[in-house]
Amino acid sequence: IFVVFEGGEGAGKSTQVTRLSEALIEAGHDVVVTREPGATDMGARIRSLVLSNGDNSDAPSPRAEALLYAADRAHHVATVVRPALGRGAVVISDRYVDSSLAYQGAGRTLPVQEISWLSSWATGGLKPDLVVLLDVDPTVGLSRVDSRGQGTDRLESESRSFHERVRYAFLDLASADPKRYLVLDAARPAEEIADVVATRLNSLLTS
Ligand code: C5P
Repeated sequence: IFVVFEGGEGAGKSTQVTRLSEALIEAGHDVVVTREPGATDMGARIRSLVLSNGDNSDAPSPRAEALLYAADRAHHVATVVRPALGRGAVVISDRYVDSSLAYQGAGRTLPVQEISWLSSWATGGLKPDLVVLLDVDPTVGLSRVDSRGQGTDRLESESRSFHERVRYAFLDLASADPKRYLVLDAARPAEEIADVVATRLNSLLTS
């Protein structure tokens, strides 16, 4: 089973990924926790290219950025995700294709259909069984990131409307395929969110 967590900055994905993986491990499942970008050695190098936090002259152009994320994903799927799914593990990824549709597509205003095609080429068409979307108002999310001291020049340089486009792109993807998505308000207590996710996972694992 392939489960993906998506959401904007400060949505609390990593907290929920940890909680879910702990619950599943406790229940005796083989669990692989992973993320994009940067889960592999090559991915870590790509991550440092796309998330360069120096001045903006370091930042890749939008199409180069889209290709770098796609390269990270192609390698991630081929060397981590597919082998783990192949042996029957539950794979939990912090971000996947929807992040590219939202950030590189809607955010950077590249044609979403093209990013979708590129992503499906990169993954060989691998789709998650469930996407948990932690929906967060960018004002709330960015202030959470700041309060953790994780605010960066890169995040600051992206406009409020960039983060709004990202948010609504995630929500649109979810409403276009509601069976595959669990959309939760990231402002709810972490404990409550974790319970809803665990319940959904249990029904997926027993179906
Ligand atoms: O989820 P995480 O905080 O590790 O993501 C790092 C950054 O990468 C985020 O700030 C997000 O803006 C960016 N990102 C992106 N496009 C993607 C995936 C992540 O711009 N496809």
